[in-house]
Amino acid sequence: MRHPTRPIIAILPILFLAAHAGTMLLARDAAMQVSFVWLIAAPVAAGFAALYRGWKEGLEGWVSVGAAMLCWAGGMVATVVNTLFLDITSEDRLSMLLYVLYGVPLIFTLVSPEDEKWPVRLVDAAMAAALGALFYAYICHLSTATGTAPQGIDELRMMFDIENGFIAVFAIMRYFARPGRRLGFFRTVTAYAIAYLVCAAYMNHYQGDSDYGHPVDVIIDLPFLLLMWLALQGGFPRASASTSSRAFARVVQAGSPMLIPVTLLTVSVLLVAYDPEMAITGCVIASIGYGLRTVLVQLRNFEEQDQLTLLSHVDALTCIPNRRRFDEVLRREWSRREQSADQLALLMIDIDHFKQLNDHFGHAVGDERLRSVAAALNECARSDYDLVARYGGEEFAAILVDIDPRDAARIAERMRAAVEALLMPLGRSAGIVTVSIGLACANSLDTGVEDFVASADAALYEAKRNGRNQVIQRAAPALRVVQSAAAPHGGRAA
Ligand code: GH3
Ligand code: MG
Ligand code: MG
Repeated sequence: MRHPTRPIIAILPILFLAAHAGTMLLARDAAMQVSFVWLIAAPVAAGFAALYRGWKEGLEGWVSVGAAMLCWAGGMVATVVNTLFLDITSEDRLSMLLYVLYGVPLIFTLVSPEDEKWPVRLVDAAMAAALGALFYAYICHLSTATGTAPQGIDELRMMFDIENGFIAVFAIMRYFARPGRRLGFFRTVTAYAIAYLVCAAYMNHYQGDSDYGHPVDVIIDLPFLLLMWLALQGGFPRASASTSSRAFARVVQAGSPMLIPVTLLTVSVLLVAYDPEMAITGCVIASIGYGLRTVLVQLRNFEEQDQLTLLSHVDALTCIPNRRRFDEVLRREWSRREQSADQLALLMIDIDHFKQLNDHFGHAVGDERLRSVAAALNECARSDYDLVARYGGEEFAAILVDIDPRDAARIAERMRAAVEALLMPLGRSAGIVTVSIGLACANSLDTGVEDFVASADAALYEAKRNGRNQVIQRAAPALRVVQSAAAPHGGRAA
């Protein structure tokens, strides 16, 4: 068995329930006092189990769940103090506040993405806290405005149903929206939230008028014990990619942050009749909070977009510009040259006998040599003007702008010599790594950028044929002979 402690963990909730019911029966007259002890112990145990799982897994969501449980336990302590030591009919505002606050960390952790940056999470947390304050204000108004009138109590219960319902719905959505490594977390919270919704609704609607100290009290323990059991169990399965469709996951991911402002607006609308100022404050917080959040997320998106563009222009192996960047710059410089008659040169560079090197030393060494060649070529270029890119495989290309043909040839020769000077052994033969370079300088006869590249390629081919490790400059453009009516057998320069 993978987890020998699992049976013990499974027995714990059963023992807890049996102890709760058993001690209540034994205590008879003090059944209420005894029951209170267990009713405080259940959320405390669930809270510590969640914190323990959070500590084990390093997932922040467990801390929020732990805080929620301890809030609920605090609410129960306030109820106990109120029931046992104070006037039983007095308003129990502190316990109500704590029961409402219990939902705040839960809602926050369910709708605020954990991988979002801290300013966004701060806005989410502030909105979740405002939601708690509004819930509390609404519940206080209901209890004071209507006293213990049945209608007021019903509305109060409905309010708790709404809060619990929201939490359960949020949890279910997150569970089905490809939660990745948080699958176990959302599975546990979903199971707990559904159990809590059902048990709280039953206790509020069917047992709300009876005192504590009856066997039915154990129902209150159930969601907490379920949470404790699942959190202690750990060893959650890995998420399978097919948990839900990607489209659904994205909608939930993008839309869940909207749930806090929507809930805020809902509670604000309910509050209008009792406390218009508070209701307006709720609406303002919802609008500004969501607006601010959108701005912050948008700023992060811009940053990420910049980084992605940068990455899409860099060759992963050599860290110099890649083919895509080369094509972009070449087209840009070509059209600039057409407009301003600037001089432009192109170098096509190919490592000689590179296959031999790979065969002898292996691809890892080959990669290392490619990086060294790229760095050497780059150092020879003029950093503010030129672009040296990996063209593909063991081929490189350089675009030299605003340059006359002699300077271009000088740079090409410097590159060839720089690679040679690295003195990197080639392999079987005694040779070293060298490059052949084809150089083309744009001229008025080039009809397009493709011609220009083709002529640099042709020069490179020539350098290879000539014995490699050399620079060949494209010969001066040949004069084309065109037929003319005036000179049918002759020719003229075009
Ligand atoms: P030539 O002098 O005629 O250019 O000979 P060559 O051996 O350099 O040319 P060839 O086209 O026959 O071989 C190119 C080799 O470059 C084959 C391929 O395995 C190697 N190569 C291409 N890309 C990479 C890479 O990213 N890493 C490594 N290690 N090798 C690569
Ligand atoms: Mg090649
Ligand atoms: Mg080669």
